[in-house]
Formats: sequence, C-alpha cells, structure tokens
Amino acid sequence: MKQKIAIIGTGPSGMAAAQILVQEDYQVTMYDKADRPGGILMYGIPHMKLNKSNILKKAERLEDMGVKFILDTYVSKDTVADEISKDFDAVLLATGAEHARDISIDGRQLKGIHFAMEYLTDNTKHLLDGSKLDIDAKDKNVVIIGGGDTANDCVATAILQGAKTVRQLEINPPRENRKKTYYDFNEDEVRLYQKTAVKFIESEGTVQKIEMDHVEIIRDENGTKVEFQDQKGLIDADLVFVAIGFLGPIDEALAAFDVKLDKAKHNRDTTIFTTEKENVFICGDARRGQSLIKWAIGEGKMAAEVIKEYLAALD
Ligand SMILES: Cc1cc2nc3c(=O)[nH]c(=O)nc-3n(C[C@H](O)[C@H](O)[C@H](O)COP(=O)(O)OP(=O)(O)OC[C@H]3O[C@@H](n4cnc5c(N)ncnc54)[C@H](O)[C@@H]3O)c2cc1C
Repeated sequence: MKQKIAIIGTGPSGMAAAQILVQEDYQVTMYDKADRPGGILMYGIPHMKLNKSNILKKAERLEDMGVKFILDTYVSKDTVADEISKDFDAVLLATGAEHARDISIDGRQLKGIHFAMEYLTDNTKHLLDGSKLDIDAKDKNVVIIGGGDTANDCVATAILQGAKTVRQLEINPPRENRKKTYYDFNEDEVRLYQKTAVKFIESEGTVQKIEMDHVEIIRDENGTKVEFQDQKGLIDADLVFVAIGFLGPIDEALAAFDVKLDKAKHNRDTTIFTTEKENVFICGDARRGQSLIKWAIGEGKMAAEVIKEYLAALD
C-alpha cells in the first residue's frame, strides 16, 4: 500500500479524486459532515432530478475498492483536523462552496425565511428518512428570491409539496432564447421579472409579506448596477427561500489546515490545485466557486494527478 490521503468532502470532486487515488493503491479516507455521501448531489439537487440511490451506489463502489468513509464528522480545528494532519501524508479539500449569499434587508431575521439549501436538504432528508419536515410549503404562499438553478429547484420542490402559491423574484428581465428549465412548471407564470425584495413584513415574528421594488439592471464598462425604480408592491409570503448564489467555501474547513483560498489565483487559473501548505490540496467548488458537476469531477481527477506527483516525489 502507498501513502495515506484524507479527502474532506464527499461531493463529486472528492469522489472523482478518491476513485483515481484508490485505484493507484493509495490509502484513501473520505470525511463529510453530512450523514450521507454525495455533497450537493445528495442534499442539494432534488430527488426528482437526481435519484439518490445512484449516488449511494457510487459511494458503495468506492468502499468496495477500499475507500473508507467517515461521515457525520465536521472537520475543523476544534474536531479532527489536527489528527488528520498528523495521520495523513496529503489532504485534499473538496468541501464545496456552501457559503450562501444573503439578502440584508429589514426583517431578514424573521421566522419563515431560509436559505435555499436548508430547504432542499430538509426535503431530501424527509424523503430518505421519513423524518418530519422542518420546512413544509404545503398550503403556504412561497416566495423564492433568485432566478437560477437553485431557485428553480426550490420552486419545483414547493409545488410538489403542495404550496398554495409559488412566486419567484428574478432581478433580470426575461432572457431571449433561454433554455427551458428541467422542470415542467411554466416559468412565466411563476416569475416576477425585474423584481427584488426590499423589506420583509411580519406578523408576530413570522414573515407574512414582502415589499418588492421594480429594478433596472445597468451593465456598462464600469460593471453592473441595480437601479431601484421606486415602484413598490406587496406580495404574500409565508415562506421565503433565499437563492441568490454562493460566495465560496466555508472558511472553517480551510482554516482547519491553515490555508486560505487565493481567489485571484484559484478562481482564475483552473490548473492550480495546490495551497500554501505543500501537502494540502484543493479542488472542485471549494477552489473555483459554485459551478457544475462536470467541472467538479474534472477537477477531482486533475487534483488526484497532482497529489500522485507530490507523493511520488517523497518516495
Ligand atoms: C441546489 C443546487 C443545484 C445544483 N444543480 C446542478 C445541476 O443540476 N447540474 C450541475 O451540473 N450542477 C448543479 N449544481 C452544482 C453542483 O452540484 C456543484 O458544482 C458540485 O456538487 C460541486 O461538487 P464539489 O464536490 O466541489 O462540492 P459539493 O458537492 O458541495 O460537496 C462538498 C462536500 O463537502 C462537505 N464539507 C464541507 N465542509 C466540510 C467540513 N468542514 N467537514 C466535513 N465535510 C465538509 C459537505 O458536507 C459536502 O458534502 C447545483 C448546485 C446547487 C447548490
């Protein structure tokens, strides 16, 4: 057997790296804070779009090949990071880009307002474990803030759960020649274009309505600017999901190994998987920012090659 490698994160990038490394006879251990492997493929993308048993089978195949999975384990300075640093010859950070962008407006602290990933994770856990839903859209007026794929996943899930109404606040105007979403719902019936939330209005501590405004997006050589038009309106909202993108990895996972993401370097150059510590590597969304499954898999494979080279040179 060759050297020991710890991979933090069992999403597609971590799994792709694990497969190559275990095939080359390295001793691979994967850690995840979640109770099931798969990263966003398990707890982000809804079951109706991606069957969870396929992800579990993939993890089982890796286990059969010799990969060890340690789940339900949050890797940080306060937990197992020091142990991992001592016990392993190389560490690969494949921790994703889970740091969600928030909306800082009046009333954000009210009950009933959640990040998209909290909602999607809760729904998948409910489907897989039969656990009670913590966030249930049934008979509720649901508003999703954001117009991307994550927002669409929330729309489809809320419709399936039996929401009373589902509306999506999309800051951009309708795009010409846009691709149809994966789901059956009619985007134009759900979306309010060029609208954003400016205030959450409460009833006894829980969100009840959203005050929204019409916006114009100005794109020029100075960048992108959002101009509020002062054409306010109200919309019923018993449940709100914030789906306006991700800022990058949660710093704690990187800090656990005393490394930092150098955005100028890591996000721009798609061939850099190293960090300022010679035996700590980074790949997937943790390195490049929220992206696509195909890039995550590609990054995992490339990072595995870089780790192999590093470990071979130590022999
Ligand atoms: C809701 C949603 C829907 C998407 N839909 C699509 C789609 O349809 N098609 C597509 O191509 N892409 C989609 N994407 C993007 C795609 O899922 C990601 O690009 C991909 O999963 C990134 O893979 P990754 O391995 O880098 O990270 P992730 O899949 O994010 O996995 C990271 C893993 O690291 C674990 N982790 C993080 N920190 C720690 C820690 N400190 N200790 C232990 N474990 C830790 C997490 O629990 C997680 O399991 C979607 C993204 C989202 C958010």
